[in-house]
Amino acid sequence: MSYAVLSSAARRCAAALADRGVRHGDRVLLLAPAAPEFVVAYLGLQAAGAVVVPMNTVATGDEIGYVLADCHAVAVLAWHELGTACRDAARVAGVPWHPVEERFWESLTQHPADVVDRGRDDTAAVLYTSGTTGSPKGAEITVGNVLSAVAISQTISGAGPEDSFGTALPLFHIFGQIAVMMASLSVGAQLSLVSPFTPAAMLDRIRDDRLTVIAGVPTMWNALLVADTGHTAADLRSVRLAISGGAALPARVLRDFQEHFGCQLVEGYGMTETTALATLHRGAKPGSVGGPVARTRVEVRGADGRAVPVGEVGEVQVQGPTVMKGYWGRRDATRSVLTPDGWLATGDLGRFDEDGDLFIVDRLKDLILRGGYNVYPAEVEKVLSDCPGVLEVAVVGLPDDHLGEEIAAVVVLRPGATLHADDIVAWAGARLSRYKVPRVVRFVPELPKGATGKVLKRAIDRPSLR
Ligand code: AMP
Repeated sequence: MSYAVLSSAARRCAAALADRGVRHGDRVLLLAPAAPEFVVAYLGLQAAGAVVVPMNTVATGDEIGYVLADCHAVAVLAWHELGTACRDAARVAGVPWHPVEERFWESLTQHPADVVDRGRDDTAAVLYTSGTTGSPKGAEITVGNVLSAVAISQTISGAGPEDSFGTALPLFHIFGQIAVMMASLSVGAQLSLVSPFTPAAMLDRIRDDRLTVIAGVPTMWNALLVADTGHTAADLRSVRLAISGGAALPARVLRDFQEHFGCQLVEGYGMTETTALATLHRGAKPGSVGGPVARTRVEVRGADGRAVPVGEVGEVQVQGPTVMKGYWGRRDATRSVLTPDGWLATGDLGRFDEDGDLFIVDRLKDLILRGGYNVYPAEVEKVLSDCPGVLEVAVVGLPDDHLGEEIAAVVVLRPGATLHADDIVAWAGARLSRYKVPRVVRFVPELPKGATGKVLKRAIDRPSLR
């Protein structure tokens, strides 16, 4: 699809939306797979001045109903092949439902609309996220947040019209939507989408579209490395930059990827509330997420709200042009994470080293308290993921009458590997203080993953681990 066709399709979509009563500032749900139809609908909604509320295509009727009511949406645009859950939720909420058909812009009769003028403070999108606790809240991402985020991405990638971006990330999530879709379109690059992710499909795309910039989460890099798809190193030579984010990148995966792909794998840290990237690490110091991206400040603060000394662990705070406006309609929730001078409390624990490089220690809420000691699951995961034979691992706390919490490791083995619980405990015991060593080890065929491919700890069935 050329840029001329994309522009005309999006503006015709905007005209059709206006005909259906969508006005500047109206919230509209968008549920569609990562395909050109998503891109056209997203840009069409932006051109109409609407606020896009993207949702996972596997969302249930209850989840859709919750978001519809929470943001007072005026319409739903949904992929035509989705089941009835979405349509039913729209009917119950009393809002119109419009199917997104394949190449739907070709059957629109409207003339391309003029793009509605908006200010930087106007809300461009509301992305629902569970954040640290509680029910999902809509992070309000402004036009200014998006423009700043794509400008920052450009300084990182140095990309231009000659580049070809590609990803298998979903577009309803901030990472794929901003750091890939908007970042590539804003520089006139080519954008290739893979949906759903399989190692073979992603590797085919890299080879056939000569992708130069790719982005994904660590579980995807891991899958690309172990997949037996018959692709050769020569097939992957076009890639000059790979961007990892969303979860900690194990040192082994970083090393193996750079060796195998022969290109730079940079690691970004960020979240929905920071419109994707807040820090970036260029690969020299495995385990670190690097320093703040342009025009962004990052501090690590203690419970008293003051910056802690170098090397000490505290909560990571971010300030800059990509920090969200707030949570939609939730003044209290916003106040609890965002100070009046724009500092966002991320809910992540981290520490700086002497060079000013940030290390994410863990999510505040995932911290395990075992017999009075703080255990950071991410630290234990890092050690276990280096154990030969281990493909993926999640470490979680289990309630324990005696110690308060006990540590459990849920392990996925590499194909063909044989390891026993004792091996895992011995590996951890040789590398970690005694109190950090998991006492419960379970092997599973796979770990539950969220839409971006991130391991979903809260979906691990803890009682069954006992
Ligand atoms: P989301 O809002 O869904 O993008 O989730 C953001 C969360 O993912 C952050 O608050 C971190 O806990 C985690 N995260 C993102 N990037 C990284 C990274 N590079 N290393 C460790 N955790 C990360």
